Amino acid sequence: MGLPLGLLLVLQHPIILDGHIDTAQRMLDMKADISARLPDGHVDLPRMQEGGLSAAFFSIWVDARYGPGTAFRRALALIDAVQVLVDTQPGAELATDADEVRGAVARGHIAVLMGVEGGHAIENSLAHLDSLYRRGVRYMTLTWNNGNDWAGSATDERRHGGLTDLGKRVVRHMNELGMLVDVSHVSDSTFWDVLATTSRPVIASHSSCRAIARHPRNLSDAQLRAIAKNGGVVGINFYPVFLDDHFREQYEELRRRLRPETDAIHARYRGRPGESAFEVDKFVGDKAESLGVPGLDRLVDHIDHAVQVMGIDHVGLGSDFDGISVLPAPMKDATSLPLLVAALRARGYADGDVAKILGENFLRLLSALR
Ligand SMILES: [Zn+2]
Repeated sequence: MGLPLGLLLVLQHPIILDGHIDTAQRMLDMKADISARLPDGHVDLPRMQEGGLSAAFFSIWVDARYGPGTAFRRALALIDAVQVLVDTQPGAELATDADEVRGAVARGHIAVLMGVEGGHAIENSLAHLDSLYRRGVRYMTLTWNNGNDWAGSATDERRHGGLTDLGKRVVRHMNELGMLVDVSHVSDSTFWDVLATTSRPVIASHSSCRAIARHPRNLSDAQLRAIAKNGGVVGINFYPVFLDDHFREQYEELRRRLRPETDAIHARYRGRPGESAFEVDKFVGDKAESLGVPGLDRLVDHIDHAVQVMGIDHVGLGSDFDGISVLPAPMKDATSLPLLVAALRARGYADGDVAKILGENFLRLLSALR
């Protein structure tokens, strides 16, 4: 009673906007047709509809093996695969801002957003960055697991630590374009350089909390506080390896034990790295079930911690669906999202706060891009 109509609609049908899914390379490399229900992986249009996943940033992930002369072209090929999806499927619409997301959802369609992962994709060219923006890309993760000429990665010690002068120019150019700067994957020194350089809110599209699990991909409380102060949003990553130190140790041991089998899979799919990575994830994921995978509550612990440190307006979801081998038990795929919604409510979150976490916080940033 007394609530504005818009807010009532949000509470009844919260938009779930996922900050990061890795489905685009399946569409390109494996010709996966996500308009129909697939027997494996985490995401396709029917399962998005069923799970209430109304919007997602499809990651235009450029693997580290692409470099000068090939990395930008790889990004364009992934964008083309996403563009074909929205051109041919009436149930999927490309979205580049909050209004387009809300419009697509109001029509009962899936809103497809794009973010590039791995700054080496622009091959040190601001013109390439412009081109990605024109194609609809609305964030760029400055590094992947590999650093590049202008930014350091959290998991690549061979590269220099922070942002170079070119890196600062890239950040400022993204600010001017209205493309969100994504600090997931970057080294700590790059993180602090970005926060000192950006004039706009940043995101961490798929990162969890280092105070709970010590993985270098996770963000420290000081980093979470800095993103909150900057007005940004962190999408909490679902990957159990990032959620729990004990599980990570067991998982790494399992990977070592399974090395002969995974090497054989890589050999079988030689020349088709997208497929071999997917098949290895499937194989290892099945075996990992026996390790006792951390449950949904562990994921909610990370969400809850981020909310405690940052406040309710700065936390979102960044599942990493289709890019990870295992999900918090008993999640299976995008259809399991209602379990997470129920777990947040069980943790004491009111509907309005749940809606912020599910998508409204990311939508706030998307509504202020231009
Ligand atoms: Zn990633």
